[in-house]
Amino acid sequence: MNNILLYIGIDDTDSSSGMCTTYITCVIISKLKDCGFNITGFPRLIRLNPFARFKTRGNGATSFKLELKSNKEVDEVKKIVLENVQQLSVLKDERTNPGVVFYHGEITPELQEFGLETIRNIVTIEDAENLLNSVGADFYKFKNGRGIIGALAAICCPLNDKTYELLAYRIPENYGTPRQINHKSIVKMNNNTYPDTFDNLDGRYIAIEPHTPCPVLYGIRSENPEILNQAKATVKVLEPVERFCIYLTNQHTDMHLQKVEKISDMEKFKCYIVEGIVRNRPYVIEGGHLIFTLEDKSGQIECAAYEPTKQFREFVRELEPEDTLRVYGGIGEGVTTKGTLNIEKFELLKLADVVITKNPMCDCGKRMKSAGTGKGYKCPKCGEKLGEGKKETIKIQRNIKEGFYETPPSARRHLSKPIIRN
Ligand code: ATP
Repeated sequence: MNNILLYIGIDDTDSSSGMCTTYITCVIISKLKDCGFNITGFPRLIRLNPFARFKTRGNGATSFKLELKSNKEVDEVKKIVLENVQQLSVLKDERTNPGVVFYHGEITPELQEFGLETIRNIVTIEDAENLLNSVGADFYKFKNGRGIIGALAAICCPLNDKTYELLAYRIPENYGTPRQINHKSIVKMNNNTYPDTFDNLDGRYIAIEPHTPCPVLYGIRSENPEILNQAKATVKVLEPVERFCIYLTNQHTDMHLQKVEKISDMEKFKCYIVEGIVRNRPYVIEGGHLIFTLEDKSGQIECAAYEPTKQFREFVRELEPEDTLRVYGGIGEGVTTKGTLNIEKFELLKLADVVITKNPMCDCGKRMKSAGTGKGYKCPKCGEKLGEGKKETIKIQRNIKEGFYETPPSARRHLSKPIIRN
């Protein structure tokens, strides 16, 4: 009998008060190892549509694969996986609806398409269930089982571009307490490994620590798995680490973004790359959010650089009407029914000429004053007069150049690709 390549996907096991699907997956992988089953390659952490309604935090789902020798082994593995999902998931939270998918077959174009759809669109439990039945996959729904959506997507989404994340997990006694990591060692790790590792430090802000009561102590993002061992050896922690795991991931690949030709084709809860002209000068609204309108021949969309994007707003503030932009971001709720495009980064393609007009200069060197409506100008010093229509136009020096501008790591979406990765 040929070996059986079994894919396993897991999602929706945690709640905002605790736990984490990556942790449960890591525990399951250890238990499988203890029983003599080794997984093939790295487990995958796949981030799905950031605007999915039922997400807890980062809308992540996990998957991994194993080569097994017999159906008996398949049954043994399934039992271990399901027992642990049952035991470790936060089932008492009404929003936690775990789903587990087991699949041994080809990852067909149709399955890949479902994976992409789950990252770029909103899909239903029925969509996932119909596809799972049509490919003959085995799946388990705990409660309403919404997790089967992410579990299937994590197995089958293609990974043309990819990054890695090393996750360190705390011992349960420390959940919810301040994380004990030596900050200087993170700076050192960053100095030694950037840009092979990235988005781990943001000025003085440490971006590897979550701020939730979850089991994750820290996560280090990187281009390759080898550098993560060096990074791990440099980061000094002052509390016990229960376990580590390196995930292969679609984080920081821009996989959620779709190119769109017309603003009028954009829909709420999807993420886009779109070109347009700045219509009005950005203005601040309550909360420190910066808003402007982007326009093309087909329509307009309100764009926002929200307060958490901090210094990024300084670039947005420099935009002027008629600037040409390529904007990267997703459409969330906004003041209009069309929603608001939450900017992740933008490329300033063409700076508009900004001019101001001033009264003309007099030959004596003094700037002239208006002599009254329709009466031209008069020099306040020498009394010289000039007719209408002689205003001087001055081109303003802009404080921003053409090029890319992005949100800082502290405000970056999991899927958003930093410019350093271009
Ligand atoms: P964490 O990142 O902490 O593990 P989370 O933010 O991933 O949590 P989940 O608890 O996994 O959130 O909940 C997300 C739910 O939404 C899952 O049931 C998942 O199957 C579902 N889901 C994910 N993407 C989509 C989508 N595009 N359309 C519809 N449902 C989705």
